Amino acid sequence: MSFILKLGWFFRKRWLYYVFTVVLMSSTSFLNSVAPRLVGDAIDKMKGGLLTEALLMQTVGLLFGIAILMYLFFYVWNNLLFGSAALLDKQLRDRLFGHWTRMTPSFFQRNRSGELMALASNDIQAVSNTAGFGVLTLVNTVVITSVVMVSMIVFVSFKLMIAALLPLPLLALAISRLGKSLRNRFIVAQESFGQMNDHVLESISGMRVIRSYVQEEKDMDAFERVTGDVMDKNIKVAFVNALFQPAISIIVGVSFAIGIGYGSFLVFYNEISLGQLVTFNIYLGLLIWPMIAFGEFINILQRGNASINRIQDNLEQRQEVSDTEKAVEIVHPGLIEFKGLTFRYPEGSADSLKDLTLTIRRGETLGIVGRTGSGKSTLLKQLLRQYPISERSLLIDGVPIENISIDNVRSWIGYVPQEHLLQSRTIRENIALGKPEATAEELTNVLDLAFLKQDIEQMDQGLSTIVGENGVALSGGQKQRVGIARALLTNPDILILDDALSAVDARTEHAILEQIRRTREGRTTLIATHRLTAVAHAQQIIVLETGRIIESGTHEQLMQLGGWYCLQYNRQKLEQALLTDEKEEL
Ligand code: ATP
Ligand code: MG
Repeated sequence: MSFILKLGWFFRKRWLYYVFTVVLMSSTSFLNSVAPRLVGDAIDKMKGGLLTEALLMQTVGLLFGIAILMYLFFYVWNNLLFGSAALLDKQLRDRLFGHWTRMTPSFFQRNRSGELMALASNDIQAVSNTAGFGVLTLVNTVVITSVVMVSMIVFVSFKLMIAALLPLPLLALAISRLGKSLRNRFIVAQESFGQMNDHVLESISGMRVIRSYVQEEKDMDAFERVTGDVMDKNIKVAFVNALFQPAISIIVGVSFAIGIGYGSFLVFYNEISLGQLVTFNIYLGLLIWPMIAFGEFINILQRGNASINRIQDNLEQRQEVSDTEKAVEIVHPGLIEFKGLTFRYPEGSADSLKDLTLTIRRGETLGIVGRTGSGKSTLLKQLLRQYPISERSLLIDGVPIENISIDNVRSWIGYVPQEHLLQSRTIRENIALGKPEATAEELTNVLDLAFLKQDIEQMDQGLSTIVGENGVALSGGQKQRVGIARALLTNPDILILDDALSAVDARTEHAILEQIRRTREGRTTLIATHRLTAVAHAQQIIVLETGRIIESGTHEQLMQLGGWYCLQYNRQKLEQALLTDEKEEL
């Protein structure tokens, strides 16, 4: 029942199809129960010497007609039922995927990729199986059993029916016991399958690291343990599954023994005819499938239930950031103000930003520096609205960011994250991700800006080169520059470069930044970096230390201050000079 409730949205749309399916299935079962009666009648007539050739032909003709009709019905309901199941499969998958695309980073921190894959494959399959095969077995059980029972009473004998079906309650008991244990084991097996998926994903994406540390054997061993675990848990499922069939066979066998034994006794005392006994035994035979179907139904329903619960739990997880109803629309953002912003990651144990106050005017370039882990990326991510923050601590043109819709915020921003995010498509598609309609001219322009032209020319297929998953076909610096080209293509109001040129040599970095500065006249640029020369030109530079601003000002002011910035700047300059000397000596 809860299964149907949880899929209410689907059954409400398709109920007519299901009603039609059930009607056709019932008609098939009904036709199926007419045949034994015809056979029994013919036998009785034969025994009484009343069977004429015409009568026999009539019976055979009727049987033939019934068979054809059943075939037609079967064809139609099968298509209807499994069509619905396939539709449910598709719609559930679309729902899940749509849900995931709206989720923020902490969702993916909580739900690992392998588990999500298991949901989208095994669990959805279990659910659609319930909506297809599950409905089939349920309707078959209910309809065939009742039609056959009524036929037994009407055409044969009530007493005989009761006696023969006496063992059936035992069957229900056995099945409900086994079903419970099956469901529990199935949930455990699905979880283990998710863990296996995770392992595969991590190993494949990290294959280069695994190889370079010669960890293949170890990883294989670990994987064998995981697959072993999946196997063990599935064997446990299969073990309970296997108990269903024997339980059914034994009980059906007892039924037959009673049917034939007690039936013969009744024939002996002339309470029923021989034809009726034959009819009855054919009926009993017809009951075997519904009994098996019932066992299957319980089994399928338990799995479907376990899976729909897992899917539902996932769908009910909300993203932490949501749009307000009366969102303010800002087309071109100007002033960005942080007002005493303190921020902690939902999973974090300490504040990553502490009491941060900062004003960035339109058209300014802000440099963010500080040692690793000081909060640079965290500060930049606040502008993407990925995490909830305390009210009125970040304002855009005086409007709290929580009052602006997420889509609006993201429409201003070109973000080059610290870890490159390339998809296994062509370079062209990767660059044009935010603006698929970009012209060739616009593309050439950003290739120029990101200093990618030469790199692309050297590739056989140029812009159509497929970069592979995670950009395996590109160098680190090339990946970073593809990311930059992508962000520049949309000509965003706010450009965020998070350590975006760390893998590019200092001279190229300088040249790229110089170009960017020229084209971004009047637009805001935020740059986090470890190479201080990259932000020396910025109107404002802040130095972060464990989430706090410890120094701020222009390059000149910070040099005069003689703090962390000055020390670091001189050190990097010295290193650079030594490096150049070495090169000259070579
Ligand atoms: P780097 O120069 O290495 O890029 P960063 O200055 O960008 O460092 P952040 O990534 O902002 O540093 O991290 C700041 C702090 O927040 C770190 O202590 C880090 O451990 C923590 N942190 C970062 N991401 C998360 C997360 N998703 N969940 C919990 N804590 C996080
Ligand atoms: Mg960072």
